[in-house]
Amino acid sequence: MAQGPLDQLGRPLGVLRLSLTARCNLACPYCCPEGTDPPELLSQGERVQLVETAVSLGAHTLRLTGGEPLLHPGLEALIAALQPLRQRAEGDRRGRLREIALTSNGVLLSAERARALKAAGLDRITLSLDGSDGASVARMAGLTGGTAAGAVVLEKVLAAIEHARAAGFDPATGALKLNAVLTRGGNGDQLLPLAQLARERGLELRLIEFMDVGHRNGWSADQVLSAAEMVARLGERWPLEPIGRSAHGTASRWRYRDGEAHVAVVASISAPFCGDCNRLRVTADGIAYGCLFATGGTDLKPWLRPALDGSGLARNLGGLWEARTDRYSEERQEQQRVASSPQAAAPRAEMAYLGG
Ligand code: SF4
Repeated sequence: MAQGPLDQLGRPLGVLRLSLTARCNLACPYCCPEGTDPPELLSQGERVQLVETAVSLGAHTLRLTGGEPLLHPGLEALIAALQPLRQRAEGDRRGRLREIALTSNGVLLSAERARALKAAGLDRITLSLDGSDGASVARMAGLTGGTAAGAVVLEKVLAAIEHARAAGFDPATGALKLNAVLTRGGNGDQLLPLAQLARERGLELRLIEFMDVGHRNGWSADQVLSAAEMVARLGERWPLEPIGRSAHGTASRWRYRDGEAHVAVVASISAPFCGDCNRLRVTADGIAYGCLFATGGTDLKPWLRPALDGSGLARNLGGLWEARTDRYSEERQEQQRVASSPQAAAPRAEMAYLGG
């Protein structure tokens, strides 16, 4: 396929993060989901058109997100409907979708659902877990039922890991991973227990620095557990060998010297990676954002309904990407502008709406 458009910083479009709903069955304090969906959600057909158009512009990976995407009843049907884009020959001038991935909190991932997702053509699942016991899970999932409710969620997520593994999402190939957001005041004490939990299951644990997404999560720099600090604490317990960050990747990775899996850190605050960011986000109601911290998005619905304007959508989505200059995390670090600058105060979309 010919090279797709490059943005103003020479970055190609590579990953489309498509949110299917802003609703969630948890209420993590670093995300603060709405609880309701925006009006005018995209239809299944519109989502397929959107993905096909993004693929024609160079996107090779689709990550399905939410809120909680397992709340979307058409998830398996959407993945199945996208398979023709996967079956194209390498080099097809229309582009080719190489991978479909899902980010989920796992609470609704039953054995049947895991098998159905695999059968529909899903390639990778990343589950989220921010604690290793009922109390920390309850705290980090915003559960009102305390430790007992946390223990129930923990049990469901641990079961989800095994359902996914049994359905063929193999951690050894990276097809099953575990995300955890660590905050200094919230679950900093869970770093080693979560690492142990992931090691015991052969899972790559992706530790995510607490980010100032949107305006609801009460973010402040002193609540951030930095990548360097997390890696140092892990390394004291288990010697680590650095692997690095792959091109366009979000995570810097390490191998445990004792061979028990890998660990990674997504360091948007302390070691930003905007330089080769190839991610476009589209919300459940069809608004495209060039960055997780963007202060505005572009409504794509005028080119999707009432009837598809395929060339209009491709032209406008391509133009949107070409005009992209986003590098918020690098700017944040350069200017330490979090609390002071006008843009830091400008309204930014919330995490659950954007899909993380
Ligand atoms: S801050 Fe924006 S530009 Fe930078 S890596 Fe994140 S999404 Fe990409």
